Amino acid sequence: MSGRSLDEFGSPLFLAWQLTNRCEANCLACCEESGPDKGWKDELNRDEALHVAEQAIGMGIPYVAFGGGEPLSVPFCWDIFEKLAAAGITLKLETNGRHIDDAAADRLQAMQVQCVQISVDGSTAEVHERVRPGSSFDAALAAIDRLVSRGLAPQVVFSPTRLNVDDMAATYELAKQHGCSAFVTGPLMQLGRAAWAWDTLACDEETWRDAAMTLRARAIALGGGLMLSIYPWGILTELDKRIESPQAMMLVVPNGRVKLLNALPFAPGDLRRMTLAEAWDAYRQAWKTDEVRDFIARCQADPNLLRHANETWYLRETV
Ligand code: SF4
Repeated sequence: MSGRSLDEFGSPLFLAWQLTNRCEANCLACCEESGPDKGWKDELNRDEALHVAEQAIGMGIPYVAFGGGEPLSVPFCWDIFEKLAAAGITLKLETNGRHIDDAAADRLQAMQVQCVQISVDGSTAEVHERVRPGSSFDAALAAIDRLVSRGLAPQVVFSPTRLNVDDMAATYELAKQHGCSAFVTGPLMQLGRAAWAWDTLACDEETWRDAAMTLRARAIALGGGLMLSIYPWGILTELDKRIESPQAMMLVVPNGRVKLLNALPFAPGDLRRMTLAEAWDAYRQAWKTDEVRDFIARCQADPNLLRHANETWYLRETV
């Protein structure tokens, strides 16, 4: 995706789509500050969301990923997924697993969803639910087992904090025992609730490095069989890389605003007022503005600016 100018892409390669900001859980490190009472009042309704899906199909977007809040808590989510899947679009789903009962697992299997990621933040209910209040460890494991039994082995996503980093290698082992396809982790992102609680929640760099080393050693000792994916950098490095080489990936938030990245508050597109193609143009232009470049530079000096990540700002500047 990098290495080519965004101007070479007539449409995004990848749509990241948050159908809602509501979630049963209230995870301490949630990037999106989702929770049971955190649904936005102006979230897209079924017809509006279907219209976005139709446009995504029309533009030939090959890949759509649904993330948090909890996408499966949206009553019309299946209408969207099935429309996209029927058009041959590859789907990814990030979920806490609570809604994946047998019927849901069957539907995901029928659609051949390419990737399901389930968050598991500990090897025991006690650790997992300490970091993810409102979430259910048992439900997450049951969802994993249902998907594995249908040939849809999910990936486990682990967010390291001071409260669970010592349990990371044991969680890898658990994921392997349950037949998952990958274990995905990386430094905690200074976004959302994690940004607000950074001083008490984030591990220092040395602790993270040691934990990552222990994790790699455990993976080797267990003889592989479960892919280990450790994201190499934190959010500030990510921002530096993205401004130099933006990805052909648009983020649609629950009210249809189109954002550059979940770490940035700029939302140059609005799918209630413009088409997806027009939003794509606005997205590409926004990456070229001094306003976005300056904000990213200021974040390096003052990471507390990342606390604005979940806001939706109009750009003052256009190019
Ligand atoms: S399950 Fe995911 S979306 Fe829900 S609160 Fe936790 S991190 Fe946020």
